[in-house]
Amino acid sequence: RIPGPAITLDELPLRPELVGSQPYGAPQLDVPVRLNTNENPYPPSARVRAHMARQIDQITASINRYPDREALALRADLAAYLGFGLTSSNIWVANGSNEVMTHILQAFGGPGRTVLSFTPTYSMYPEYARNTHTRYVAVPRRDDYTLDADLVVAAVAEHRPDVLLITTPNNPTGTITPVKVIEEICERVDCIVVVDEAYQEFTEFPADSSLALLARFGRLIVSRTMSKAFALAGGRVGYFAAAPAVVDACRIVRLPYHMSAQTQAIARVALAHRNEMLAQVDALRQECQELQEWLRRAGLEVVPSQANFILFGRFADRHAVWQEVLDAGVLIREVGPEGFLRLNAGTPDEMRAFREAISPVIARPG
Ligand code: PMP
Repeated sequence: RIPGPAITLDELPLRPELVGSQPYGAPQLDVPVRLNTNENPYPPSARVRAHMARQIDQITASINRYPDREALALRADLAAYLGFGLTSSNIWVANGSNEVMTHILQAFGGPGRTVLSFTPTYSMYPEYARNTHTRYVAVPRRDDYTLDADLVVAAVAEHRPDVLLITTPNNPTGTITPVKVIEEICERVDCIVVVDEAYQEFTEFPADSSLALLARFGRLIVSRTMSKAFALAGGRVGYFAAAPAVVDACRIVRLPYHMSAQTQAIARVALAHRNEMLAQVDALRQECQELQEWLRRAGLEVVPSQANFILFGRFADRHAVWQEVLDAGVLIREVGPEGFLRLNAGTPDEMRAFREAISPVIARPG
């Protein structure tokens, strides 16, 4: 029994636009193989974990004090990791790119303002918009899920967004938008352009990043996360690189001390061991490419992906397929265009478990 007066959500004076909404999130189920949230399946080594534990032990000695409000050491480490001549003044960091994106919309979106993105894309974007009272407009990608500058510029001319959001590689399709295209877009629009590069480290040419354009475009923001390639999803660290003025805008809207001392410490340890933390990226890229080929050979439609996940279909009843795979102990994701499912690359054992789980579906006629 829940203590306190009996009251339901329906009886509370909820903001009207929230009525009927469900909290966002993929199912967190206790199954042997979880391939549904694009995580890195490899935990840190004993050596890295011991280092994290030592740092946590050290910071608890002053945990009565607020953490570094500007997270300067962490921002400097992130700048060093990205390269391109960036310094801490170019870097903003928050609790996952979810919070980074919220800060961007709190600063540059808001009532009467519009954010534009290209669907199918990451399903949290409309939620960031709703939470910041920003109008959300989504324009379809081309049939092969790619984007070109003309399509984007035409959409900007039509919808006049304050913030343009381009995801590369795109979730859930894995489609990249080349830097040349981003460059042309930046030349032709004057709104804030956010390039969400959450999965950039998994691409064939990770250095081919919009970070290279930052020196030329003051309204460009390149967003990254430590949740994916860096194998730090539980640490909750997202960040972006941009002109220092863009960082200053986010400093206005963030809550003071938004990055806990322990988050800053753990992220810095992960960055200090970056080679080790990123060591499995090549293997995951390989698993992902191999599984794409395997699914194609099995006769399924597979969207070419440069990320650590794959969108595949089409199934007349994708929910039934999702359930059947889950019943075999493998959790994947019901997301993206009708009839498609998504899963991320895991360990070789996890990939084997998935292939076994999906095989009866493939073998069945129709
Ligand atoms: N952007 C994209 C495209 C994503 O797919 C995700 C996670 N699924 C995020 C941002 C957010 O990641 P996080 O908040 O863990 O940094």
